[in-house]
Amino acid sequence: MRSVRAASLGFALATMTATGAVAQVVCPFDTRRLSFAGTAIEQARCLLSPVLIRGGIGARPARLGPTLERLVGSEVRLDREALRRKLQDAGLSQMADMLGQPVSRTLSGAPALYYVIHDTSQKYSGTQFPDNADPGLNRLGFKKRGEYVAHVFINRLGNVLVGHDIAVPWRATQLELRTGVSTRGRFIHVEHNQPRLRDPANSRENDNLAPRPGLTDAQYDRSALTYIWASARAGRWLIPAFHAVLDKGFGTHDDPQNFDLPAFDAAVGRHVPPMR
Ligand SMILES: [Zn+2]
Repeated sequence: MRSVRAASLGFALATMTATGAVAQVVCPFDTRRLSFAGTAIEQARCLLSPVLIRGGIGARPARLGPTLERLVGSEVRLDREALRRKLQDAGLSQMADMLGQPVSRTLSGAPALYYVIHDTSQKYSGTQFPDNADPGLNRLGFKKRGEYVAHVFINRLGNVLVGHDIAVPWRATQLELRTGVSTRGRFIHVEHNQPRLRDPANSRENDNLAPRPGLTDAQYDRSALTYIWASARAGRWLIPAFHAVLDKGFGTHDDPQNFDLPAFDAAVGRHVPPMR
């Protein structure tokens, strides 16, 4: 489905598709404030609405998990040395070394504010998902036109690749494409490897079926560390967001599928170092 943006300024409320149908934006984005509507917590609740099969969007959670409810949007006050050691112990020495560096900013100077969760939607034939240790499924760092498509990649085994440091403004959504360069730098993009199968209930060629839960324990664990690392660099706990929710009305994305928000919340809670 190709869609054409109808609202050019202020809140983008709906978009007109090529066939004339109106696709509703789930969480309206304000192009002047470079943020979605509401407080940081309200934005996170909207942007973490579950992504259903074929890119449908479910009811937004009334509350995030206890850790995210406590943290999102607030100033990061944690023991940085403890976080640096934790990253090193997890084998993430590149991230540990970059802990003192800033995050990306937009052209107008607005710092990164969103932690965008993607899955790689790797299509397999047959009716069985590959084993989580499958080498092809754990390939790290997808590229388009010679460039990594996201900042960070996390495979099924919890191995992490930083494709672009998060100081680099990098686009990976239709929303950023359609709002031009003004939003570049506001979003940090994290890809999680995930296998997909064809859904036989859909007669057309597709990659709709995803495992449940969508990610492995190792991926929730490493994504939580990545979220803490990125937030510590931003100085404020980032607003987590699902790609398909952010882009609803602009594109046809369906990622991430079957993301276990309580598992992510618990992993963040496990890893947050002592507060200052
Ligand atoms: Zn995506």
